[in-house]
Formats: sequence, C-alpha cells, structure tokens
Amino acid sequence: MNSKDAPQDATSFATSERSQATSPRMVNADNQERPLIVVHDIHKFYQVGQTRLHALRGISLEVSPGEFVAVRGPSGSGKSTFMNIIGCLDRPTQGSYELVGRQVSQMSTRELARVRNRLIGFVFQGFNLLSRASARRNVELPMIYAGLTRELREQRSREALQLVGLGARMDHKPAQLSGGQQQRVAIARALVNSPSLLLADEPTGNLDSRTSIEIMAVLQALNQRGLTIILVTHEPDIAEYTMRQVVFRDGCLVRDEPVSHPRDAQAEWAALSLQNPDEDY
Ligand code: ADP
Repeated sequence: MNSKDAPQDATSFATSERSQATSPRMVNADNQERPLIVVHDIHKFYQVGQTRLHALRGISLEVSPGEFVAVRGPSGSGKSTFMNIIGCLDRPTQGSYELVGRQVSQMSTRELARVRNRLIGFVFQGFNLLSRASARRNVELPMIYAGLTRELREQRSREALQLVGLGARMDHKPAQLSGGQQQRVAIARALVNSPSLLLADEPTGNLDSRTSIEIMAVLQALNQRGLTIILVTHEPDIAEYTMRQVVFRDGCLVRDEPVSHPRDAQAEWAALSLQNPDEDY
C-alpha cells in the first residue's frame, strides 16, 4: 500500500485547499433541521403476466443530512425496488417521496433524470468503469454529460481522485488497478457533480474482506465530511460500519435501528496496511 493512496486522504483532504464544487454537500445549519429524504407509505406493484406483484408494501422512512444508512434484507425483499425509487430511477405506484424538499414521486421521467444527475451519486457492485479509459477520464465522464468545461473537468476529477486516495494513479487504466482502487475510481466518479446523496448498491459485493474494509474506510471518511450515504448490503459485517440499519422483509420495513457501536474501517484499514506495508492493493 502506497501511503499516498491511503483512504485517510479523504479526511485529510477536508482540511486542504479545494474547490467547493467537488466537495460533497455538507451538513449545514440550514438543512440540518430538514430531512434529506422523506418517504411516506410507498407501495410498488409490478405486473408480471396476469399477476400483480406487491414488491413494496407501505414503506415510510426519513433520512437526515449526514446519515450513513445500511439497507439490508434477504433476496427478493424489495431492497433494489426501494433503492431505484430513492435513486429516482423509478417511481412508486403509490405514496410520496420527497428529496431535498422536492416532491419527486410524481415527476416525469425527464424531471427525474435531472434530479438524479444533480443530486445523486451512484456506486455499484461491478464498478462499471470504461476499461480503455484512464481513472481520470472515467471520473470526467459525468461532467462531459453535464457540459462542463475541460478545465473544470480536469480540476474536479483530480480533486475527486485525491479525495479517494488515488492522486498518484490518475492515469492508470482499470486493468492496472486493484479491485479496491477500481471501486475508489467509481466512488470518485459518483462525487464529481457534488451530490447531496450517495447511493451504494453492494459496493463491496465483488471484493474480498480486506478490500471491503478499504472501501468502507473511504465511505466512512466521506460520511464524516458530511456526505449522506445509503448503502445496500446483504452482509451484516458491512452494515456494522454504518450508523443505522434498515431491514426489509417481504416488501416491508421490519427493522430500523441505530448501529450501537459502529466499526471504524479507517482504523482497521490502517492496521492492516501496517501489517503488510509492502503490499500494493
Ligand atoms: P431485492 O433487491 O431485495 O432482492 P427486489 O426489489 O429486486 O428485491 O425484488 C422485490 C420483488 O419484486 C421480488 O419478488 C422480485 O421478483 C420483484 N421484482 C423486482 N423487479 C421487478 C420487475 N422489474 N418486474 C417484476 N417483478 C420485479
């Protein structure tokens, strides 16, 4: 592990000079009072042939700015359906969803796309990086779609990659990076448009346990800087690095509780790195 790549960079970056543009939107006095997300009695039905499948059965939930929430539950319990709605990729059949004070449940597909691009960053299990493009270029992509100038794109991608501890590997292509580093590039890409919310769908699902700690260290550091994160995981261990667990079963929310003693991924990752100082992840 190269010390330049340590995920702790995410916290140290907070004190260095940086553009406001790349920083995750921070908790402030203005929005601290108001929840970031208010979901009320959401239902989702899917029509499969003659059958009407009831995938979400009256979910209500609030998430405040700065929270780090794990969504857990067995396969088929409705996690993806819920996250698609939260991520403005889909609409509920019934019920209301308010994101940053905007009622999004009734928005058109086009309006949803705008809200999604402006307010939400996504991280997926499979990284979804372009294999022929460098880390920097991958991170620049959402800004190309957003029509930002080249200078701004370069500045923001540099800052985002530094933020996730990849300042020294900006010109590497995905194949030249470890799985953990590739996921860090994907996290940097999710941050460049300064989202209010980061949605991570099984971000450690393809990673071994030590690399999972690496990624959770990056996410914890970002959360400590004020970024609101909702993470889907089927692994109870991973949920222990968050602050709150929400559990789904059969389309219902059956548990919603704080994590009493969240694990410290940054400390665990630092300890692992000390044990294996010559390894490069
Ligand atoms: P999870 O993410 O917890 O595995 P899902 O949200 O994917 O659960 O699925 C919840 C239920 O909705 C399941 O019964 C699943 O088969 C069904 N479902 C999910 N997506 C669709 C879809 N696009 N069309 C029909 N049924 C779906």
